[in-house]
Amino acid sequence: MTTPTSPNKEEKNSSAPPARKYLVTGGAGFIGSHLCEKLLDTGHRVVVLDDFNGYYDQTLKWKNIATIHERLDELVEGDIRDEETVKQTFSNHNFDGVFHLAARAGVRPSIRNPHLYFKTNVDGTLNLLESCREHGVRDFIFASSSSIYGVQKKVPFSETDPVERTISPYAASKIAGEQLCSNYAHLFGIHCMCMRFFTVYGPRQRPDLAIAKFTAAIREGQPIELFGDGTSARDYTYIDDILQGVLAASRYTEHSSFEIFNLGESATTTLAQLVALIESNVGKRAIIVRQPNQPGDVPLTCADISKARALLHYNPQTPIREGIANYVKWASPPLPK
Ligand code: NAD
Repeated sequence: MTTPTSPNKEEKNSSAPPARKYLVTGGAGFIGSHLCEKLLDTGHRVVVLDDFNGYYDQTLKWKNIATIHERLDELVEGDIRDEETVKQTFSNHNFDGVFHLAARAGVRPSIRNPHLYFKTNVDGTLNLLESCREHGVRDFIFASSSSIYGVQKKVPFSETDPVERTISPYAASKIAGEQLCSNYAHLFGIHCMCMRFFTVYGPRQRPDLAIAKFTAAIREGQPIELFGDGTSARDYTYIDDILQGVLAASRYTEHSSFEIFNLGESATTTLAQLVALIESNVGKRAIIVRQPNQPGDVPLTCADISKARALLHYNPQTPIREGIANYVKWASPPLPK
């Protein structure tokens, strides 16, 4: 289904930098909807391509874009696996760039359904790059993931570390996506920036992720499942910091045609610390049910962000204490009067 909303919008502010027209795939998701908002607020034009699949409650995705729906040039409810849909979307618009965020995300489900992950994350990415080539679209930002580092002995992880030891099909599909970007940059001069996100959180976070699940369960007095002994650790990155890095990459003109950037906070929080932080913000103790470590989960992630700092002036601002407080506030409906 295609919902044209307000085609041929005029640039409102002539002193602002020239508006660009972007395709945001996965624009109804957690990160994509925030990105669309930022792009629209800075005067750009945006087309969203999203299939609103049922990986999690679709009504949340419609809610994510409720306030921006009318401001989009077009909302294409379609699947990036479908070549025709992708081709038609590029034919209907003259894009200046693509933010490619649509993907099957989530490590554990990728072990149960690897074909779906490869069809979406690899074939889908190929369809988009092919259309960029055909239509002369020169800028492509790809949402990659820290999970491609797999189990590393060396911390923090840097972009030059070896990545041949991934431990989930999701991670393998993201490496394949990066490699396609490398090919299309080399062969056709498309500027491809691969952004390795480290566990992103904040308002509208995907409900399948730990922070969202724990917050909801602790508030409701329900038990939470804690995998492992609580020492596994993550570099949690607040949504505003991710957006800062992604937008800086889209403006980065000094680059060679292919670059990889880590986007994290470069700080780690253990699972036990995370639960304690959520407990103190919610004001209730968690009921913990311990479970063994899950296949596909890595024990630790931590980003070396020196490259993004140096080249993109990336400068994350939201430590986990502040970010969790923001998230819990957002996730907590007001008390009845
Ligand atoms: P999300 O699931 O909220 O958003 C992804 C969006 O893509 C969804 O709206 C979904 O409907 C859409 N989509 C999925 N398959 C599609 C298809 N075949 N065709 C069209 N649309 C499709 O996830 P998110 O957390 O916002 O993640 C966005 C991107 O960032 C993904 O590529 C993900 O792999 C990557 N990433 C996220 C994190 C994180 O911690 N959230 C970490 C690393 C990388």
